[in-house]
Amino acid sequence: MNNRLVYSEGYDFAVAGLDKLHPFDAKKFSKAWNILNDEIPDLVEYHLSPKELAADELLKLIHTSEYLKSLSQSTAIAKVVELGLLRFFPSGILARSLLDPIRLATSGTLLASQYAVKNQAMVMNFGGGYHHAFSNRGEGFCFFADAALAIKSSRISGLLQQNDNVGMIDLDAHRGNGFESFFIDDSSVSIFDMYNFQVYPGLHSGDVDDYPYMVPLQSGMSGESYLRVLREELPAFLETLKDAKLVFYNAGTDVLAGDRLGRLNLSFQHVVERDRYVLEQLKALAVPVVVLTSGGYTSESYKLVAECAKILVNM
Ligand SMILES: [Zn+2]
Repeated sequence: MNNRLVYSEGYDFAVAGLDKLHPFDAKKFSKAWNILNDEIPDLVEYHLSPKELAADELLKLIHTSEYLKSLSQSTAIAKVVELGLLRFFPSGILARSLLDPIRLATSGTLLASQYAVKNQAMVMNFGGGYHHAFSNRGEGFCFFADAALAIKSSRISGLLQQNDNVGMIDLDAHRGNGFESFFIDDSSVSIFDMYNFQVYPGLHSGDVDDYPYMVPLQSGMSGESYLRVLREELPAFLETLKDAKLVFYNAGTDVLAGDRLGRLNLSFQHVVERDRYVLEQLKALAVPVVVLTSGGYTSESYKLVAECAKILVNM
């Protein structure tokens, strides 16, 4: 029983009316946790809670000062979440009710990574997976590049060596353009990304043959086809991760049918099957794993987060 779940009730967004402006379920994380509370009697044994918000001082390891400073303005925040109306909210309110939960979840990804590496464990953070955040800007609801920060700070602390093999399996419906941007010239970090190329941010650049683990999919792809492609494509990538010191799994639930932003067509059971398959493969590799929840914009998303957590604690 080495696996852990990282969660805090502070992960929920508290912006009044946000649910009406954006398909994101502001209480997704606490709703998922409540399911586990009901179903796992010894949940407390698995629980790790981040204590501190990721402050600018820490975020400067991967983000520019200009960008971090810009987030004190409502217009900059509104741009990242693509909700023009938010620019009329006072910046103090947005800082507390939107950015602070994201800072806490960013800290959760660091905690999950440290625990996973130190204990050879599989750890799921109930937030994080902000794979559209760049060094100098945020996009697509992603402010802080949590996974990149975890790698960078682990290298600085000596938990990871510069050339330690690190992997990212990104199965969120959207391509992780932000995460990619940090490691484009870093051969120690390898990425497997299966994504709908017909939605934001679109197809990766470069020659397809140069990016063997980028797997673009079409809108509307069925769950059967999705799982078939995953089972065909992932094993070769896993072969490269045998000596990995850390592997991230971005388990975005926006692949679910009906997700307005993901536009794929997996049933609930298909998503559960996807998560089980990936986690079983990673368990067989016996490498430290961090699962991040990334995107998911349906009213069912929290149930999928809970299902993934159940798979992990039962491993
Ligand atoms: Zn997404």
